[in-house]
Amino acid sequence: MNGKVYLIGAGPGAPDLITVRGAEILKRADIVFYDALVHLDTLAFAPRAKKVAVGKRCSRISTDQRFINRNLVEAAHKYPIVVRLKGGDPMLFGRAQEEIAALKKAGIEYEIVPGVTAALGASAEVGVSLTRRGLSRSVVFVTPRVGEGEETANWVKSVLAADTAVLYMAAGQAGEISAILLGQGMPAATPAVVVEKATLPESRQFHTTLSGMRDAGQWNLQGPALIFLGEVFRESAVADTAIEELLRTLKVVSAN
Ligand code: SAH
Repeated sequence: MNGKVYLIGAGPGAPDLITVRGAEILKRADIVFYDALVHLDTLAFAPRAKKVAVGKRCSRISTDQRFINRNLVEAAHKYPIVVRLKGGDPMLFGRAQEEIAALKKAGIEYEIVPGVTAALGASAEVGVSLTRRGLSRSVVFVTPRVGEGEETANWVKSVLAADTAVLYMAAGQAGEISAILLGQGMPAATPAVVVEKATLPESRQFHTTLSGMRDAGQWNLQGPALIFLGEVFRESAVADTAIEELLRTLKVVSAN
């Protein structure tokens, strides 16, 4: 027999940000392969299912993409409803296409259920619209991370071309990214916001500028985080930077 495989977006973090459709399918699921980014409470939507961790951060079993692809195909031979649960939206930076290709090749039926991507969870949390009349008419979702054997992607061009940029899988190298973009002529004062664990209670935000991103080491990021760049963040970034500068001045004064 052949079951059906659902690639479901779990949303950016908070378990209740999954779609109603995603939650309904999870209720009926027989087996769920989930990523490290998926909140464990989200798995409670799937009481009947066998749960298999396939994320880098929470599983010791192979996280090789081919291994996951093979597992999905094998599971579809055994179970009627197979779920591949991914953080955010499955079609953004989630290697969904490789899984889709494997399922197609094996002649297995599949369906994609979208989710709220991290950028949108984070923009809601910061309370700043990614587009704004007269200020931002384009948003780019970009990652500086390139896969094995890939050419260094031209992510810098994309950032420079867009009014607002969201950088995924980048916060860990915020310092290097800042240096690269400054080197390409992006203004040092470009507002930047780094959001960690967006939509979760322990979420943190760092409002700074492109040049201020060099201090990223001090933030001690623990969870998934993304970087926003663009003029739409000016008010929030400027307010926070002014406070930081004031505190720095006070420190210098007290040290003297
Ligand atoms: N498919 C996912 C993205 C997977 S790539 C989506 O649509 O959101 C993983 C990257 O997503 C992380 O490195 C981080 O940049 C970002 N990310 C995921 N969850 C996040 C969260 N709760 N807060 C901030 N960034 C997050």
